[in-house]
Formats: sequence, C-alpha cells, structure tokens
Amino acid sequence: MTRIDAVDCHATIAVIGAGPAGLSTAWFLSKNGFHNVTVLEKLGQIGGLCKSLTVDGMSYDLGANYVTWAYQETLEIAEEVGATTYAEEPYTSIDIAPDGNSFTYRSLMEAVLNDPYTKSTISVWTFLWAAVRYLYIRWQLSGVIDAPDYLDKIHERPELCVDFKSWLAKQDLMPLATLFQFPITIMGYGQLDDIATPYALRYMSVRTFFPMVFGLGPVNWIIGSWPRRFTDGFQRLWERVSWRLNVRLNVNITKIERTAAGVRIDMEYPEQDLNDLKIVKDSKLYDYLVLACPLTKDVFTQLGLAPNDAEQKVNHEIKFNPYCITTFWIDMTMKAPVAPVLPLTEQGTPWAVARQFQDSGNMFTQFYTRPRDKQTGDEAIAEVKRLTKLLGGTIDTSQPRWHTFDEFTYFQHFTPDQIKTGIYADLARMQGADRTFYVGGATDFELVEPIVVYSKYIVEKHFAGGVRAA
Ligand SMILES: Cc1cc2nc3c(=O)[nH]c(=O)nc-3n(C[C@H](O)[C@H](O)[C@H](O)COP(=O)(O)OP(=O)(O)OC[C@H]3O[C@@H](n4cnc5c(N)ncnc54)[C@H](O)[C@@H]3O)c2cc1C
Repeated sequence: MTRIDAVDCHATIAVIGAGPAGLSTAWFLSKNGFHNVTVLEKLGQIGGLCKSLTVDGMSYDLGANYVTWAYQETLEIAEEVGATTYAEEPYTSIDIAPDGNSFTYRSLMEAVLNDPYTKSTISVWTFLWAAVRYLYIRWQLSGVIDAPDYLDKIHERPELCVDFKSWLAKQDLMPLATLFQFPITIMGYGQLDDIATPYALRYMSVRTFFPMVFGLGPVNWIIGSWPRRFTDGFQRLWERVSWRLNVRLNVNITKIERTAAGVRIDMEYPEQDLNDLKIVKDSKLYDYLVLACPLTKDVFTQLGLAPNDAEQKVNHEIKFNPYCITTFWIDMTMKAPVAPVLPLTEQGTPWAVARQFQDSGNMFTQFYTRPRDKQTGDEAIAEVKRLTKLLGGTIDTSQPRWHTFDEFTYFQHFTPDQIKTGIYADLARMQGADRTFYVGGATDFELVEPIVVYSKYIVEKHFAGGVRAA
C-alpha cells in the first residue's frame, strides 16, 4: 500500500463518475492547475442524480432540484458557467383525512402547528420560540458542523452521535419536528428517529433554516427568496461545468488494478470518426484514482476493482434508503408548485407532489415517496393514481412519453452508533491510501452543496498543497 502526501500537478488523475462529486473534484483540480484529469462516466449523460428533462422548452428536475442560501460554492460555480436560478413560489401542504377519502390544502404553517390526526396543537409563539432557539444552537455549532471535514471528527462529540429526534427532544425542540419531516423524511433521509443528528444539522444550517421559517417580505428583500431552482434544470448546471473539463461518457470500466507503478484502468467506450461508430478497448495508467461513485460492493464489482480491507469495511457497513419518484402528465389545478403531505401518511404512499412552471401551462407532475418493504413499482404507481383521483386530477394517457418511474437506492449513510465509533475517521484515513481518493455521497451528507464543499476540501488538502511545476 502506498500513501501519498503531496501531488505534482502534472499527475494523471482518473475520476470515476460524472455526478456533482466527480465534476466538482475535476473542476477544483483544474482551478488548482491540474490538467491531466479525466472523468470517466458509465452513462451517456452528465450529472448523476441531478437529472433534468426538457419538454416544450421548459426543464423539469427528476432528481436534485433545490439550492438554498447555504449553497455558496455551488452558486459560485453556477455563476462562472452561466447557469441561472429562479425562486420557487411558497409551498402549501396536503392534509389527507384519516379515512383517505378527502383532503384539504393547508398552509405549511398550519400543518406544522396543528395535527388533525392526534388533535395536538402548538401555538405559533411556541413554534417561533423553538425556531429562534434552534437557530441559536445551530449557530453555536457552526464551527463543528459547517467545517468541510466535520464528519471526520464528529465521534469526538458523542452527544451529537444520536438520532435526530432524541437530539430535538433533549434540546426541547420537539415543536419543530413536523417542520423537519418535510425536508428530511419526505425528501428521502429517513424518519427523525432514524437519521443521525450530524446529517440533519448539516442539512438544516442557519442559512437554510432561517429563510424556511422567517423568509417573508423585507427578509426576502434583503437575503433573496429561497430556495431556488436552476432555470434550465440542475443537470444543465453540471453539463455546463463538464464543457470545461475532460469528460468521457459511456465508458465501461472492466478492470482497475492499483500497483506501485500507478492505477491501471481497462475500459471500453464508443468512439466516432465522422460517420463510423466503433467500440474501442483501451488500457491506461493513471497516477491517482478518485472514486466519485457510490461505495457499494456492486460498484466495486462493476469496476473490476478488488476492494482493500478498509474499503471492504465501508462496503459492509454503509446503509441506503430506497426512494422513488413517479411522474405523470396530469390535468389538475395545484394550489402551489410543491405540496408535502402532512401529517405524513404511511410509507409507500405519495409524500410530496411537485409541479414546476405551472403558470406556463405545465401539467407534468411528480410524486415522491419512500417505498415500503417489498412494494413493487406497480403498487407505488397505484398509490399515485389513487392520490391523483383524490386531488381531482386526470392522468393524460395520450402523454405516455411523460410518465416516468424511478426507484433508486438513495442516501449513503451510517447509523448514529457507527458514527460514534468513528466510521468517518476511518474513511478520512483511507484518503490517498492505495493511490485512491473518495468524494461524493458516502463521504458527506447527500446533498449537492456539502458534496461540492467536500470535493474542494479534498483537492486543497491532498492535491493543491502538492509539488507545483514552475
Ligand atoms: C429525487 C432527488 C431529489 C434530490 N434533491 C436535491 C436537492 O433538492 N438539492 C440537493 O442539493 N441535492 C438533492 N438531491 C441529492 C443530490 O442529487 C445528490 O446528493 C448528488 O447528486 C450526489 O452526487 P454524487 O456525485 O455523489 O453521486 P451521483 O449523483 O449518484 O453521481 C454518481 C455518478 O457515478 C456514476 N457511476 C456509478 N457507477 C459507475 C461506474 N461503474 N463507472 C463509471 N461511472 C459510474 C453514475 O452514473 C453517476 O453519474 C436529490 C436527489 C434525488 C435523487
């Protein structure tokens, strides 16, 4: 096993995966004078889970969609490549009656304060006081949670290595629990008594939380309206980034071998000579490997890469959440572009409905949920059809092109106990061993900004401090 401490900027570097992690790593490497960097992507498209679809000139996000005020690094890149954003209109919420036969639209604030299932009610002052206290506590934790390498040392703060619900209860912040269900549980990160507190705190930073609760009138005038979406879709941001990098799509990596001489990658890819398209077999030796793809056993098998002991441990311990998105073309008036279902319904039923560009006549409607155990795709789609009927919508079956169903394993994460015993410190020790670096979902919280911040940190720590050519 060879360990490196500094890297010459002439080094050749292969980055596996053209999602936000791989592309931001290549971007920051390029900014730091590394020009022999190749991004190898198995699919024919850029962006990974940032996936957008364009219909009638409007782009819809099927994967990542929002940026918040906290997305400083991502927005800086966006500005440089010319990707613009627009502010989302305020959300509403859908309250489904316990018998499942009727619903009402309620404001998010109303949904957060009143639970018609349990008949529990929180006063607006109790809620706001909890929100102010959360901001204060979160601000005090900024030095810990907002550091790019926050997870590496988080085991030194065992009081944070607990599930988020326990942490909220301990801080007397339970009046915020329903509010947090929207960005956390509904968006695929698990129940509040499941997700580890360091992830939830990273997500709910001061800059993300403050506009969520206090983003009204003059506040918006000062800090801008948040969250925002990319006008042409999140995927187009990464496409624009890729134009400035060396990215090869449709690459089938068949074998990766790490030796003292370098990292040998055997691959096949299509190459076009004007009229002819042929599959080329290639074998290249790189100085370093950056894995910007999920750190699962499957991916190591796909890559023909024998995991070392440390990688095997991560492979073994890493957890995922299944999640799915269904889209249909639906003739229906929605009260707002986004509506979470609150109180939360049973797992496997739609938890949020979203429609972008409604004012421009769009009917393309998305439903998000976490499937329940053994639920088939058809069963999940049947739940979407049931809700559509309840909301008074008609699915336009003459638009089959605009029906999509994606089920994916989401949110690479560890349990609070695994975090407490230092799994991220182990991951940090792996950086650079065997000529390999790791960025992306497994190394930070599964959102674009933390991933971009982490890529920058890894580049600056392990590469940019290296031997620079004159
Ligand atoms: C429905 C949904 C909504 C989301 N909403 C938001 C949001 O609003 N805001 C936000 O910030 N984030 C959001 N996210 C999360 C965000 O999309 C992810 O955190 C981010 O895309 C992860 O980036 P990554 O590069 O680590 O991984 P990925 O995006 O998964 O990219 C990994 C890349 O590696 C490639 N790859 C895998 N195996 C191989 C192989 N063998 N060879 C070559 N390439 C390979 C994949 O094809 C892929 O392109 C959302 C995600 C989903 C699914």
